Amino acid sequence: MLSNRAARDVATLVHPYTNLSTFRETGPLVLERGHGVWVYDGDGRPYLEGMAGLWCTALGYSNEELVEAASEQLSRLPFTHLFSGRSHDPAIELAEALKELMPCPTSKVFFTSSGSEANDTQVKLLWYLNNALGQPRRKKIVSHVRGYHGVTVATASMTGLPANHADWDLPLPGFLHAGCPHHYRFAQAGESERDFSARLAADLDALIQREDPETIAAFVTEPVLGAGGAVVPPEGYFEAIQAVTERYGIRLVADEVICGFGRTGEWFGSQALGLRPDTISFAKAVTSGYMPLGGVSVDPALYDVLVAQSAKLGTFGHGTTYSGHPVACAVALKTLEIYRRDRIVEGVREKAPQFQARLSALAGHPIVGEARGIGLIGGLEIVADKASRAQFDPKAGVAARCVAFAQDEGLIVRFLAGDRIAVCPPLVIQPGEIDTLFERLGRALDRTAAWVA
Ligand code: PLP
Repeated sequence: MLSNRAARDVATLVHPYTNLSTFRETGPLVLERGHGVWVYDGDGRPYLEGMAGLWCTALGYSNEELVEAASEQLSRLPFTHLFSGRSHDPAIELAEALKELMPCPTSKVFFTSSGSEANDTQVKLLWYLNNALGQPRRKKIVSHVRGYHGVTVATASMTGLPANHADWDLPLPGFLHAGCPHHYRFAQAGESERDFSARLAADLDALIQREDPETIAAFVTEPVLGAGGAVVPPEGYFEAIQAVTERYGIRLVADEVICGFGRTGEWFGSQALGLRPDTISFAKAVTSGYMPLGGVSVDPALYDVLVAQSAKLGTFGHGTTYSGHPVACAVALKTLEIYRRDRIVEGVREKAPQFQARLSALAGHPIVGEARGIGLIGGLEIVADKASRAQFDPKAGVAARCVAFAQDEGLIVRFLAGDRIAVCPPLVIQPGEIDTLFERLGRALDRTAAWVA
């Protein structure tokens, strides 16, 4: 029996990424407030937010400095835009701060309101650039099976997950998917990580050859595949992939929407994973999730082309009302200041060994096939048989059940396709809370094992 509030929700809201059929029975988890790494439901029950919301609330909840930054900007100038050369200090200062940090050649920053818009902008800029460069055939985008890049028509096409394609008439033509760099699930028997990486790079090379290298604009990748399974690519992977993209002059786009701003123990996942991107997309932790903001880095050569195109066409015909929203920019500026001042990225490096040791220990659990991560992000895969790595029938929803048990234990984690579970807490999590997180997750796994037995 749903509570009155739950029934009102079911009666009125369409929830993203929710099984809207079963949801009518289960109803929502309504959260009311948060503090530190904890969120509280309507009955005041605490949950350890083991997903940092949606991989974003890096500084945890109720950060007063972020609230003040937003409030101050709301009072001073709640809105102006960047169209037609209009500007404001938070956008200027944030662009300057980001330029300093970027892991790729950057002369400018273009702001969006979300990760999807950032990646969509990447696609549009690539098409625009290649038209301007007299290479109108160079338009195809390669990304990963199980990569996640967003939900717009173009970014859902880049995303390599069935739920984003089936019955959505996607992917669009010209969006191609390379093999998923998940060693545990896709390597051949006895294949080392390096050999697996080399094989995937050879497969990418073959794909590019088949399509005609002159038609490929970019390879887009997350440093750690997030929504597709919290998968850390194998040893030597990006080295091998970049040898291929560089051979054909294919631009490399790093989708840093999850990995950006400390998650992996470096400012950007590219730095931790050995990626040398031409450009990055960012969002989420740039504001610690307190305001919607995303963006892309623009390298000097690309910017010159954009200028030349404006001279030819009369304007740079792209941007949304909220590109560079002043309140979002003010919050992002304060977020970056706190990351630096409180040594948040260094803190991730210090806490990662404990986090990763507790995660790896779960690989010994009877229904866990793999548990692996980097920094303060990790994924584990639930299997029916550890020796053969056989999975449960997807219809059984075992990982979903485990996440429900975790919620019952007072822990929020997320289930992903392939019976995988992601853990990605706020970066400010303390050592004692890391222990609590994994104790609760262990109990949820025990209850799941008993449920499937
Ligand atoms: N890219 C990555 C790696 C993501 O994880 C996400 C969202 O989770 C996106 C892009 C899309 O971002 P948004 O949901 O803000 O549109």
